[in-house]
Amino acid sequence: MADDDELIAYEEEDDAVDTAVAAAAAAGSAAPAAGGASDGAAGADSKEVKKGSYVGIHATGFRDFLLKPELLRAIVDCGFEHPSEVQQECIPQAVLGMDVLCQAKSGMGKTAVFVLATLQQLDPGSAEGTVLVICHTRELAYQIRHEYARFSKYMPELRTAVFYGGVPPRSNVEELKRDKPQIIVGTPGRILALVRTKDLPVKNVKHFVMDECDKMLEQLDMRRDIQEIFKSTPHHKQVMMFSATLAKEVRPVAKKFMSSPLEVFVDDETKLTLHGLMQFYVRLPETAKNRKLNDLLDTLEFNQVVVFVKSVQRATELSKLLVECNFPSTCIHSGMPQEERIKRYKQFKDFNFRIMVATDIFGRGIDIERVNIVINYDMPDAADSYLHRVGRAGRFGTKGLAISFVTSDADATILNAVQERFEVNVKELPETIEVSAYMPSS
Ligand code: ADP
Repeated sequence: MADDDELIAYEEEDDAVDTAVAAAAAAGSAAPAAGGASDGAAGADSKEVKKGSYVGIHATGFRDFLLKPELLRAIVDCGFEHPSEVQQECIPQAVLGMDVLCQAKSGMGKTAVFVLATLQQLDPGSAEGTVLVICHTRELAYQIRHEYARFSKYMPELRTAVFYGGVPPRSNVEELKRDKPQIIVGTPGRILALVRTKDLPVKNVKHFVMDECDKMLEQLDMRRDIQEIFKSTPHHKQVMMFSATLAKEVRPVAKKFMSSPLEVFVDDETKLTLHGLMQFYVRLPETAKNRKLNDLLDTLEFNQVVVFVKSVQRATELSKLLVECNFPSTCIHSGMPQEERIKRYKQFKDFNFRIMVATDIFGRGIDIERVNIVINYDMPDAADSYLHRVGRAGRFGTKGLAISFVTSDADATILNAVQERFEVNVKELPETIEVSAYMPSS
């Protein structure tokens, strides 16, 4: 079905823009602007940031949210000790059914906000399709479903399903008929298709969640899909929207879906930098990238690394090259079948590979805690994507290292935009970096 393929277009540029262009522009002219911005944002001061901003606000515990015992037990099993700042702000209101519009930096625990808030409000007798969660990539959908599984461990009667393109719709339809899932997670194209054929029941929706909502609202075609799904659901429901970035223009659009929402914003964009994350750039010609990457992977210490490239073809080729050099590498991109994408994602999460070469499809929301280094082999095309990509390292305030290869004038412009927008000073990669500055100690 056509909708399946559209998902790819949401996430990735065509492969047409490629190496030659960047190489032509190279010629060593890439000079990120002299910093001048607040220093130290590159974040070597790892002491005060150890575990994100929940440290220091431990006055409130998960217990204070008066959650069901079966949820509290699961929270303990997940190793969560204190709620993060965003959880403290949102959960008490969200469990009461209030609409929520929340922007908080990547890795601060937004997912647990809506997962816990919806699980708290569900009961074993809830009708099928009571909770509908929509997000823009298949991997994220899969991951959110996984979070539901973790937190509903002691609620065995709850049924959750995840639907996205790339798998035959028939299997979704069968699953819906068979399991009657109360919680449904999915990507817009497939969810809309199932709504249109009336296979997915929308009349019972009481909680409508959009994760990474700006991504879905900014693009008109995706916004249209979302609107159609939204309109098909009952008028009276709780609406929650989350994002790491939320441009001023998008906020009013988001609020149109809600009534007097609780708004939790990290207003000051400079706060969006990820503390604990060291950020550097390397200026080099296109032809020197492979060599440099090899050197870095040889010399740096890492648990897991994500290497971002700008096209599907480059992802495949670079991963092949790394494997030939005996690096434990795999790749993920939208050019591969859905099962393969999920399989590789899981393999990486399960630590079967140490290196993942990925396109931007992997840049948002994906949470793999062992990733402590992100390398932008190709610069992203916007400051926002930079933030999302480097957010893969340093999840929940842990330490990490981000290195960006700067080749063309365009790359330098992006890096300058990142520095201005988020007030970081991304310095040139030094000869050596103290391992303890980017490698978690345990
Ligand atoms: P976001 O959605 O804001 O990007 P996630 O919900 O993916 O962030 O959370 C990032 C990581 O932090 C996940 O591994 C999650 O399990 C973990 N996490 C979230 N909340 C807490 C908490 N209160 N205590 C410990 N770890 C947490």
